[in-house]
Amino acid sequence: MDTGVIVKVSGPLVVAHGIPDARMYDVVRVSEKKLIGEIIELRGEQASIQVYEETGGLGPGEPVETTGKPLSVELGPGLISTIYDGIQRPLDLIRHEVGDYITRGIDIPGLRRDKKWEFKAQVKKGDEVKTGDVLGTVQETPVVIHKVMVPPGLSGTVEKVASGQFTVEETVAVLKTGDGTVEVAMMQTWPVRRSRPYQRKIMPDAPLNTGQRVIDTFFPVGKGGTACVPGPFGSGKTVIQHQLAKWADADIVVYIGCGERGNEMCDVLTEFPELLDPRTGETLMNRTVLIANTSNMPVAAREASVYTGITIAEYFRDMGYSVAVMADSTSRWAEAMREISGRLEEMPGEEGYPAYLGTKVAEFYERSGKVICQASDHREGSLSVIGAVSPPGGDLSDPVVQATLRVVKVFWSLEDILAFKRHFPAISWLNSYSLYYDNISEHLKSEVDENFEQLRDEAMKLLQQEAELEEMVRLVGIESLSQPDRLILKTAKSIREDFLHQNAFHEVDTFSPIKKQFTRLKLILDTHRLCEEAVKKGVLVDRLAELPANEEIARSKYIKADQLEKIEAIGTRMEEQIKELIEEVGAQNAERIPNHT
Ligand code: ADP
Repeated sequence: MDTGVIVKVSGPLVVAHGIPDARMYDVVRVSEKKLIGEIIELRGEQASIQVYEETGGLGPGEPVETTGKPLSVELGPGLISTIYDGIQRPLDLIRHEVGDYITRGIDIPGLRRDKKWEFKAQVKKGDEVKTGDVLGTVQETPVVIHKVMVPPGLSGTVEKVASGQFTVEETVAVLKTGDGTVEVAMMQTWPVRRSRPYQRKIMPDAPLNTGQRVIDTFFPVGKGGTACVPGPFGSGKTVIQHQLAKWADADIVVYIGCGERGNEMCDVLTEFPELLDPRTGETLMNRTVLIANTSNMPVAAREASVYTGITIAEYFRDMGYSVAVMADSTSRWAEAMREISGRLEEMPGEEGYPAYLGTKVAEFYERSGKVICQASDHREGSLSVIGAVSPPGGDLSDPVVQATLRVVKVFWSLEDILAFKRHFPAISWLNSYSLYYDNISEHLKSEVDENFEQLRDEAMKLLQQEAELEEMVRLVGIESLSQPDRLILKTAKSIREDFLHQNAFHEVDTFSPIKKQFTRLKLILDTHRLCEEAVKKGVLVDRLAELPANEEIARSKYIKADQLEKIEAIGTRMEEQIKELIEEVGAQNAERIPNHT
């Protein structure tokens, strides 16, 4: 059979001539080693190919063949709890077959072919079905029911369907369509660079609760929303992404570890399988798909990994689930794009990134959303995307940060000043924002407490006042502040240290459910109001700061979430202690000011 031939090899980019039937974005096999690559530019007979494997040792004259198919992922039972590389090769199976170093050209399918799954039919002969309708289900893991759906573009009448044990390739249903009969298996494939269809998008209005106080209370992300965590090295991006992957109340989590240092990915690979889901007590891997692309893997595979991840996520969204994607870090993805673009000798844009960087970033985040799925039952599904960005030196004018901020609706600003002070998560309360807040507030009011928004705004106002007062203290010293102003500083400190600060590595503090967050913030602000009264009656803020109940407020982080009454009881003790102080000060004043009568 005729093949194309390599004319040039330049790192991950191979140029080949005369590949029969070459088409843009089709997957090709390069050289006798059959390395996997994708055509990313076609000029007449000449094709530029990004190769997903090491190209060392390749040279001109070697053959190149097209597979005639675009880069696709396999979708079906068996995705959950698997760890994949950037082009959906299961890492554990590869390791099992060929050892720790991935042999080039290895072709292991994304879904296991030998495993039988228990398929329970949900339709019967004669039913009319269309795209997205659920033909049957498979209990994929103890917590995930995999819905086997009619693939996009197909509709018809069920002619045959049966429950039983099937592999992903075996026919589970036969549909009669306008053009004859179609056999449907549990597995479908989908090209990664195209988003999967849905009916329409709707506005995210429910929060993706994460158990992280600064996020849930102050800068929440909606289910189906987008968020960005840019920050300098060491400011805590990875810890935040891990925290979200562990604790976010999504049905399915897809974690894309994209080209971060190899050892960090190892942490994820070893740590995740051991983590338990607080809600189910099962391993967290039972709802997680990991895509691991360390920096020692080829650059082009990094470029592909975000698409592989998001396509898998869309597939679970189509089942009506709430899916969360974490990408750490999208800078590594953009750098891969830059490298390939440079080798293609494209006209560079800012900082050498290709001119289409902004478009690619926007296209990626636009695949998020809360949607009405393509299915007769019009079910809703959501896909939230949270991307870390690691600009050099933490510089927010970096093109990747800027391109991301133009499209995402939540910005968690990590600041190294906070990280140096060991205030974690180092998310700035002054510079971060969430454009979902108004939509989500209604939900928080009805689900948590009707005063939620008011309380949050009050706390935010105190933090802003603190920033202004600190400026004044720098100029004229603390002595110049009035007692009410000093009280603002006291309460703001408590909001920062007792509420916003959260230790990801403490057994209880690592996860704070939204009700507990509310109860504790209320305790802090109730205390503030009581203190205001006391200050009006002449009690000094320094005395109020010495009350033993303050320490109890600080330690209430560690009270378990099912013991909220213990937190409320601290409020009662605080009230008593303040009352005593007021009485004491009142008595002293009475002594000093003799009675006129
Ligand atoms: P980045 O990914 O931005 O380079 P990391 O996420 O690796 O930074 O965080 C650096 C270090 O900061 C962590 O190893 C940890 O010691 C500390 N850290 C970050 N976030 C927290 C947190 N929420 N609680 C406790 N320590 C944290």
